[in-house]
Amino acid sequence: MAALTTPTTPPVPIQVGRRRIVPLVEMVGPALPARATYPNLAPDLLDALLSDAGETYADPSRTFLRMASQGFAILGAGRVILVDTCLGGPKPKRPHPRPGLDSRWLSTLEGAGIRPTDVDTVINTHLHHDHVGWNTTLTGAHLRPTFPTAQYLIAQPELDHATATTPPVHVADSVLPVQAAGRLLACRPDHRVDEEVRLVPAPGHTPGHTLVEITSQGRRALLAGDLIHHPLQLHRPDISTALCVDPVQAAITRRAVLDRYADTDTLILPTHLPVGGYLRRDGGGYRLGPP
Ligand SMILES: [Zn+2]
Repeated sequence: MAALTTPTTPPVPIQVGRRRIVPLVEMVGPALPARATYPNLAPDLLDALLSDAGETYADPSRTFLRMASQGFAILGAGRVILVDTCLGGPKPKRPHPRPGLDSRWLSTLEGAGIRPTDVDTVINTHLHHDHVGWNTTLTGAHLRPTFPTAQYLIAQPELDHATATTPPVHVADSVLPVQAAGRLLACRPDHRVDEEVRLVPAPGHTPGHTLVEITSQGRRALLAGDLIHHPLQLHRPDISTALCVDPVQAAITRRAVLDRYADTDTLILPTHLPVGGYLRRDGGGYRLGPP
């Protein structure tokens, strides 16, 4: 597989009322193995669903899902909010948080005019390794919060789940140093960040998984976290991934969220899809498309 690097084209902002959403892409490419991600789908059906969705979302052999690793900035109204911090840079126990990836995500932020000290809030939708990586940066021998003056928001049930037993290495190197520095706020899963930005509870993928809804001047967008990993889950909302902690609850949540936002003018931006869109009912399922 070719070496993956952060794209060098500058991010393109999306205006939502008086707020600006900036997709901050760390990488787009073949990521999760399709069959291992959807072990409950018969291989023939999986292949047909991947084929239907097209090559934007799978490699030509349909062996790997073609996915984005990305975060988002929410700018405007005097705020600089980041939602998810991707895979991250070198850590003492993980010199390459994703083998083969040279993450230059902080340069992408710089290209969007965002300096680490500008960021007032970081939201981690959940604590999987691909959503917390740039929470911290290795400085000399120390892991420090990358955004030194930001408050990091994590839903309390998510933090409880991640630290109930010995935390996995990515929590130890990308979450606990933030807590030790006094910058972490464990919040309710329906926490309101300001009058236009709120968390939406979406348990199942992980216990404290949250989405982020932005409503401004009659416009609305939903940063949809890991509600889906591939458009096949729009067509078949009952299908959860092998990564979902509680696949049954994840499917219940998925169906409810898709139903709530379908046929509205809400722009839906799932973390791992290279492109977002507007949700429309389609047969027994849904699809993302133009307004
Ligand atoms: Zn993820």
